[in-house]
Amino acid sequence: MSQPLRVASEDMAKPWHLSEELFRRFLDQNVTPAEGRAVVRHLVSQCPECLGLVGRIVAEGGYWFGKEVAEGLAEHDRVLASFEDADEFTSREPRRIAFERLRGWAHWSALDPLLPNERLPAILARKDWHHWGLFRALLEAPAWYSARDPQEAVDIAQLALDIFDLFDPAAVGGEAAAKDMRATAYSVLAACRRMASDLEGARTAIAEAWKWNEEGEGDPLDKAEIYYADAAYAATIGEFETAVTILKKALALYRAANDLHLQGRTLIRMGETLGYVKPEKALTYIERGLERLNPVREPRLALLAQHALAEFLCAAGRPREALAILDRSRPLYRQFPDEWTQLRLHWLQGRVAHGLGSFAEAADILRQVREELFPLDHQRDFLMISIDLAEAHVRAGDMATALAFLEETTPILVGSNLHRNALSTWLAFQKALEERRDLEPAALAPLFDNLRCY
Ligand SMILES: [Zn+2]
Repeated sequence: MSQPLRVASEDMAKPWHLSEELFRRFLDQNVTPAEGRAVVRHLVSQCPECLGLVGRIVAEGGYWFGKEVAEGLAEHDRVLASFEDADEFTSREPRRIAFERLRGWAHWSALDPLLPNERLPAILARKDWHHWGLFRALLEAPAWYSARDPQEAVDIAQLALDIFDLFDPAAVGGEAAAKDMRATAYSVLAACRRMASDLEGARTAIAEAWKWNEEGEGDPLDKAEIYYADAAYAATIGEFETAVTILKKALALYRAANDLHLQGRTLIRMGETLGYVKPEKALTYIERGLERLNPVREPRLALLAQHALAEFLCAAGRPREALAILDRSRPLYRQFPDEWTQLRLHWLQGRVAHGLGSFAEAADILRQVREELFPLDHQRDFLMISIDLAEAHVRAGDMATALAFLEETTPILVGSNLHRNALSTWLAFQKALEERRDLEPAALAPLFDNLRCY
């Protein structure tokens, strides 16, 4: 039937169509990246012939979402329809956007259980889904995944960009505004790729974000978001000072926009970025950030800032002040009973104990936290707590345990997708510690600090 798809020469003048074989491979995630992109591009052009083929294969192949999901979706639509009559919103435009966002999230809920490559055909088949609410939902959904399944988060952000041409620019205020939306999507994609350790890809996505932002209206708040993504990238590759310089540009934009809270958030981010390199400077940023922050607007950020404050007081050799902050923040920690926050609290307690000279106690706390961190698959945190634990053993005068512990940790780090620079720094550290095993424990502190700064 259809001609096979030639992806090498993307000759759009010559009309080609999807072959059944290629589309089945697409659904089975058995295509090259170039083939995958070509399939997506062609489907988003809404070629009627190929959409017919897609509908048929998806229906017969059992790729379509199940009856239960479909029924749930219909129920969603009924519930949402009742909103239309409600007088919840005063002016018409915000009401329309709020409603669209709700529907977008309902569509995403239906897409979520599907395999990544089933999602595109599912969207194409439903014309009533082609609105910006779905786009916005696809930019929010990755945040749910980025910690536990970074690749899934990348796929979702990529999907938002893949289907971009389905949305009507007029509905967001024209072509220029739509370009801003595309820029935002690229900065989300950059963040997701960075989390998935695809640093090259993150770099490319940031460049795309800037390109679209410049072609668009160049909304300053959108620009600030791109600076955030850019700074996070710089910090990930160890360029902390560069990251802070970039964040200062975001800070200037928030100042111009007269948004005190976002200035506070940015100052706190600057502090977090610089924390292990220049703790004293970091403390100044965080204190200034806390003055500007509105805790009601972002309660979790208020906790993160207090946490960072205690952490960097420790790093700056001021453990007593760190203990005071830690104690004052306990009620705040109790408001966030999730595992992640509680592990951060215990980790901090281990560091404060270490700072106060209770090395054996610090080692006990850190060992327990490390065990619980292990299955969570956060490579960088796992690396950092391993450094903390090794140092606690050394300071407790137990060099043999420290060295044995390093040896046991290395294969775990090798097996993870930790960035190769971090890994080689770790290996160099392991060797250096062995060579200096007879030195006074306190003389080894710079070795640990250098490793943390990586
Ligand atoms: Zn076609």
